Formats: sequence, structure tokens, C-alpha cells
Amino acid sequence: MRNATAGTAILISLFLLFSVASEASQEKKDRFGCHKCTSECEQYDLLKNEYHCHGTISVQSTNIQIAPRIIDGKTYRRVANVLDGDTLTVYYGVGGKKEKVRLLGIDAPETSPREKAECFSQQATAMLKELAHNKHVLLEKDKIQKDDKDKYGRLLRYVTVLETNMTVNEQLITSGHAKTYPSLTTTVENYKKLENNAKAAKAGMWDECAKEKKTQPQPGDRKFPLKGERYGSNNIN
Ligand SMILES: [Zn+2]
Repeated sequence: MRNATAGTAILISLFLLFSVASEASQEKKDRFGCHKCTSECEQYDLLKNEYHCHGTISVQSTNIQIAPRIIDGKTYRRVANVLDGDTLTVYYGVGGKKEKVRLLGIDAPETSPREKAECFSQQATAMLKELAHNKHVLLEKDKIQKDDKDKYGRLLRYVTVLETNMTVNEQLITSGHAKTYPSLTTTVENYKKLENNAKAAKAGMWDECAKEKKTQPQPGDRKFPLKGERYGSNNIN
């Protein structure tokens, strides 16, 4: 009995050793299917020595959860934080480093300064959180507007969620949480159309902020300040 147990243990050890060794001999991946990038990193939108995984992985360890994933040749990065309706941070680089991403082609209501927060800014932030927080996302540049970053050093990207295969830039316009940013991009015409549809359907800000406009102070109405309030400037036609 004892011998049988020992024999089984040896067989299992040998099997584990062999399976780790055979994976290692192929691509030097660890047992989770992850490794550091050593060559052709740029092609996969990875940095040199950036730890990343191949395929879908459900390991609880933090460094694997936040690692980029390569699926069908595309690199998906983990969203770390949503800052407002059109800005988020992703894990990008070695050792949990983060980069800010500005969603291309859209403009969500401003959240800051807080006392001048624009109508629907909180809802826009909440919506982007719902769509993208803690998700793995594909980051893509525009084919015409090829700037890597804006003047604030934020990556300019379209953000597509791995789980849903939906581009959040487009979703936020469609649901009335953002407007089209007037710029020379491949998407601007389509985004304008989506924005007009959202207006017609009174989606999101196109309903809420129109109501707010209607409740603008009337002469003799002391409930609202007569000056200093912003009602989303040119939100309403
Ligand atoms: Zn790899």
C-alpha cells in the first residue's frame, strides 16, 4: 500500500515536471500561460519585458488579473480606474504601471471643477464605470487621426470591451452620455448620426439636461441663482 502511494506520488511529480518543462521549451510561458515579452512586442502593443498572458485565464492572483491578454492575436488591457465619462486608466507597462486613456471622438460632460460640474457628468462617469471598470479592453488608434497622445499625455484610443465586443466610445454617444467630439477621425460622421438619433430619442442628457434647461430661473424666482449656473451651453437646439 505504502509503495503504491509512493509510486503514484512519483508519477504525479514526473508528470508535473514534464508538463512544465514542455511548455517552457516552447515559449517560456509559466504554468498560467503567461510570460514576459521579449520580441515583436510593438506588434502586439506590448512593452519590452511586459508580463502578459495568452488566452482566457481565470486565476485569482492579482498580477495575472491585471496582465494584458492576447486573444486571437489582439491585446486586451485591464481597466484600472474610470476617471470621468471619457477618461480611464489601464494597466500598461511593467510592475502595475498605469496609463491614462482619453476616449477618441467623444466628449462627455465635465465633472470638474466640482462646483461647475456639467449636467449629466455624474451619470456619464457611472455609465463608463458600468461598461468598462475592471474589464479587459482593446485599445485602438484612429486610422486618420494618428496622434498617440493628447497634450495632457493621455493615450487617444477607441476602447472595445473583450466580454461584449462593444466599443464604449460609440455606446456612450448612443445612450446620450457623451457628444461627438468634432475632429478629423474615421468615426466622426457615424458618431454625429448616432448623436442625432440619441437627441431624437431623448436619450440620457438629451432628456435630463433639456428638463434642467426648462427649469432655468424665472424673474422673481428665488429658488435658483440667476447667475453662475451652467446649463450645458449648446446642449439643446
Ligand atoms: Zn506572449
